[in-house]
Parts: sequence; C-alpha cells; structure tokens
Amino acid sequence: MGFIPTVDVEKCTGCEECVDVCPVEVFEMKDGKSAVVNGEECLGCESCVEVCESDAVAVEEE
Ligand code: SF4
Ligand code: SF4
Repeated sequence: MGFIPTVDVEKCTGCEECVDVCPVEVFEMKDGKSAVVNGEECLGCESCVEVCESDAVAVEEE
C-alpha cells in the first residue's frame, strides 16, 4: 500500500506551498510549476492537498 501524489499543472499557480509543506520532499519546482519528483516517499498526510489553494494537488491511495 502506498500513495500517489499528482499535480495538475493546468491548475498550479507556482506558489510553492506544497514544496514547503511536504515533510518528505515529494515536490520540486520545475519551470515555475510544482512537479512530483519523489512520489514513492509520500506518507499520505494530505498536507499538500490542504495547502494548495488552486486545488491542483491530489493524493490517491494505491
Ligand atoms: S500548492 Fe498548488 S498551486 Fe502551489 S505550487 Fe503546489 S500545486 Fe502549485
Ligand atoms: S500527502 Fe504529505 S507526504 Fe504525500 S506528497 Fe502530500 S505533503 Fe508530501
């Protein structure tokens, strides 16, 4: 069992909040948008979902 975080780049405004909040550094900024670079480390805490005002982050259970 794991979690799959995703970013909808169409919705992402590049605020970097998800990058800052994730305790295991799942996200990095790429070309002004958040990108999932470390998805296998995701703990499923959903802090990134809560912090994203653009509703661009989703975390699904595998
Ligand atoms: S919190 Fe949302 S809008 Fe901000 S960088 Fe992350 S995905 Fe983009
Ligand atoms: S659910 Fe938690 S651990 Fe997973 S990407 Fe979001 S902030 Fe990081």
